[in-house]
Amino acid sequence: MATDVFELAKKHFFRYAEPLNLEKRYPGMDIHEHLTTPDRSIGFRLTVQRDDGTLQVCQAFRVQFNDDRGPYKGGVRFHPQVDLGETKALAFWMYLKTAVADIPFGGAKGGVQVDYQSLSLAEKERLTKRYTLVLGNDIGPEKDIPAPDVNKGELEIAWMLDTWRMNMGSYQRGVVTGKPVSLGGSKGRREATGRGVFYTIVEALKDLGRSLDDCTIAVQGFGNVGANAAALLHAVGAKIVAVSDERRAYYNKKGLPILDLLAQSPGGKLPETFANAEAIDRDTLLTLDVDVLVPAALENAITEKNAPSIKAKLIAEGANGPTTPGAVEILADRDILVIPDILCNAGGVTVSYFEWVQNRQEFYWTLHEVNEKLKAVMVTAYHTVSELAHREDITLREAAYRIAIERVAEAAARRGVQ
Ligand code: GLU
Repeated sequence: MATDVFELAKKHFFRYAEPLNLEKRYPGMDIHEHLTTPDRSIGFRLTVQRDDGTLQVCQAFRVQFNDDRGPYKGGVRFHPQVDLGETKALAFWMYLKTAVADIPFGGAKGGVQVDYQSLSLAEKERLTKRYTLVLGNDIGPEKDIPAPDVNKGELEIAWMLDTWRMNMGSYQRGVVTGKPVSLGGSKGRREATGRGVFYTIVEALKDLGRSLDDCTIAVQGFGNVGANAAALLHAVGAKIVAVSDERRAYYNKKGLPILDLLAQSPGGKLPETFANAEAIDRDTLLTLDVDVLVPAALENAITEKNAPSIKAKLIAEGANGPTTPGAVEILADRDILVIPDILCNAGGVTVSYFEWVQNRQEFYWTLHEVNEKLKAVMVTAYHTVSELAHREDITLREAAYRIAIERVAEAAARRGVQ
C-alpha cells in the first residue's frame, strides 16, 4: 500500500497543476518533472546492535525533494511501514507545505523501517545516533534540517544534535529542530502542530458560520498532533466526543474529560480502560455524527470506502496524507469542507522555522511571542487559500496546491536555467 502513496501524490499534483499552465509559463524548463522528481533520495542499510548483542538490519531513508525556496526541511519517522515510496510522498508534501505557509524552506523527509516501540531506550539511542552518523554531512543547518515526526520527539532530536556535533566538530543547534528547550529548542514547538490545526479549525468554522463552543469533534490519533489539538479545542469549550489511538477508541456523546484522558495516556497511548467513556471500534470514530473530524494519525485513514459515510461538516487533516485521492473527490462532491494537510498541519514546521531563526540569533522568544507569530502565519495562510478557493470556486486543497506550486515554480524559474 505504502509504495504507491508517492504515485498517488503525483497524480494529485498533476491534476491541481493543470490549470496553472506551467509548461507554457515556464517553457523549456521541464517544470513538471522538476517539481515531481526528488532532488535526491538517500537509502541505506542501518545496522543496530540489540541489547542482547545481536544485530538488526533496518532500511533507512532521507529524501531531499526540493530546495528551490530554501534548505531542505522535514521530519524523520520511525515506523514499520516506512519505505522509500512513503518517504518520497512525505518529502513532496513537505515542500508544498513550507510553500503554503510561506516559510523559507524546501522539503525533505526521513525514515527508518523499524518497530521502534519494541526497542529498549538504549537501542533507540543507538538507532537514532547511527542514522544521524550515516547521514553526516548530508544534513546541516543550511542544507537539510531534520525534525520530529511519528515516533520521534525531543528525546531523539537531542540525540541527533549530540551526534552531529560530535561528528562534525561544531555546535550548530540549527541542524535539527524540535529540540528540548534546554538544548536550544523553541518554546511552543511541542504543541505547535496541534496548535496550528486548532487555528485553522477556528478560521474554517467562521467560514461555515459556526463557533467552536457549539461543536462536537472526533479526533483520530492521540499522539503529539491529536492530543494537543484536542486539548486546545477542549479548552475553548468544544466537545471532544471521541478519540482513538492505534489500538482503541473512546466515545462519550456528552464530551470526553480530555484532561483526565491526557493524564492517563502517557506517550499518546490511551488507557486500557476508561471509566468515563464507552469503548468503540476505531473505524467507527471516522463516521460518527460529529461537526468536526480531525484525522491525526497516518496516511489513508479516509478512503473511498468510508468517505460516503462521513457525517462531519468539517475535516481538519492533522496527519499527512490521511485522505486518499478517491476519497478527496467523494468529500468534495458531498460539500464537506476539508482543510488539507499541507495547510492544516503546517504549524509544526512553522515553529521549527522559528526555532531555526532563534538558533541563528541565539536569542530566544517567549511562549507568547511564538504562539502569536504562529497564529499570524496560520491565519494568513488559511485566508490566502480560502480567498482563492472562493474566487475560483475550488476546494481548499486545490487552492493550497495552486498557491504552493506557483510559489515554488516561480522560485525555480528565477534561479535560471544554466
Ligand atoms: N514532521 C512534521 C511535519 O510533517 C514537522 C516537520 C518539521 O518541523 O520540519 O510537518
